[in-house]
Amino acid sequence: MAGTILLVFLFLKFTMPSLLPSFQDVLDAALRLEGIAHRTPVLQSASLNAQLQAQVFIKCENFQRMGAFKFRGGFNALAKLSQAQRQAGVVAYSSGNHAQAVALSARILGVPATIFMPHDASPAKLAATQGYGAEVIGYDRYTEDASAKALQLAHQKGLTFIPPFDHADVLAGQGTAALELFDEVGELDALFVCLGGGGLLSGSALAAKARSPHCKIYGVEPEAGNDTQQSFRKGERVKIATPVTIADGAQTPMVGAITFEIIKALVDDIHTVTDSQLIETMRFYAERMKMVVEPTGCLSLAAAVQAAATLRGQRVGVIISGGNVDLARFAQLLAS
Ligand SMILES: *Cc1c(COP(=O)(O)O)cnc(C)c1O
Repeated sequence: MAGTILLVFLFLKFTMPSLLPSFQDVLDAALRLEGIAHRTPVLQSASLNAQLQAQVFIKCENFQRMGAFKFRGGFNALAKLSQAQRQAGVVAYSSGNHAQAVALSARILGVPATIFMPHDASPAKLAATQGYGAEVIGYDRYTEDASAKALQLAHQKGLTFIPPFDHADVLAGQGTAALELFDEVGELDALFVCLGGGGLLSGSALAAKARSPHCKIYGVEPEAGNDTQQSFRKGERVKIATPVTIADGAQTPMVGAITFEIIKALVDDIHTVTDSQLIETMRFYAERMKMVVEPTGCLSLAAAVQAAATLRGQRVGVIISGGNVDLARFAQLLAS
């Protein structure tokens, strides 16, 4: 028994590094996504550049298919499945955007999909996920462990579980957004990335280190949910209670294991911003750039504005992660 445990431990210890994706995986994902994902625009705002006295390049994943970068990782993961795995189907859990990403990718590839979504998920995200043909099962995000439920169903029905962030193929797919940004604008001095479980940040970091080695890479979390900042400072993953924040895409209680390994190695720091900073940023995007950006998608620019004094004269990248917010909620947040 002890021998078996030791063998399993040694196996994991020595195979773990090979489970970590590399920049090559991001390049491979980009090939899979070519002609399927949108190559989203990179926009600038003269008034923002003037305000920050910097050149800010905004990668607009709010214009990605299904409204967020998550399509990249979801599609990459599903495209890599074997024929048998595709036939059996996939299962995922998500408060919204990963659900839509898996549902849309599954529809494109002809794969049956079951998605666990919280009862209080945004009605727009719920409707979109069902609209793509996925079967949706509800759960309580504050009391139930959606990951355990999804894994259990995967086990019972022989489905493949597609995690929202802690998966090599998912995070490699997410990295293609930053890859496109660097390929379009060249090297940057700093890159700000919205952060929940770390799929977008770790994938972006792989792309940034390869395309712009001197670029500082910052993840941005809501202040109420600073689990990755705590983890980063401590050097080990810290779990918190599900945070209460308007940034519903970043309500993860703990950063991923794989994503954290990459974040520890490649990311320079983790910033936090408050919900009121997110609302201010939503207003800026709507008024000045005519864009609807969901609260979580505002994390990156809110942190860049907060750090303005350190960014003067620099070339700064900001990734908007998504734009899926119910119009009524959008109006309500802007009125507050
Ligand atoms: C999922 C999501 C995030 C967080 O991404 P991670 O890969 O979990 O860090 C941020 N913004 C939006 C809009 C999302 O859907």
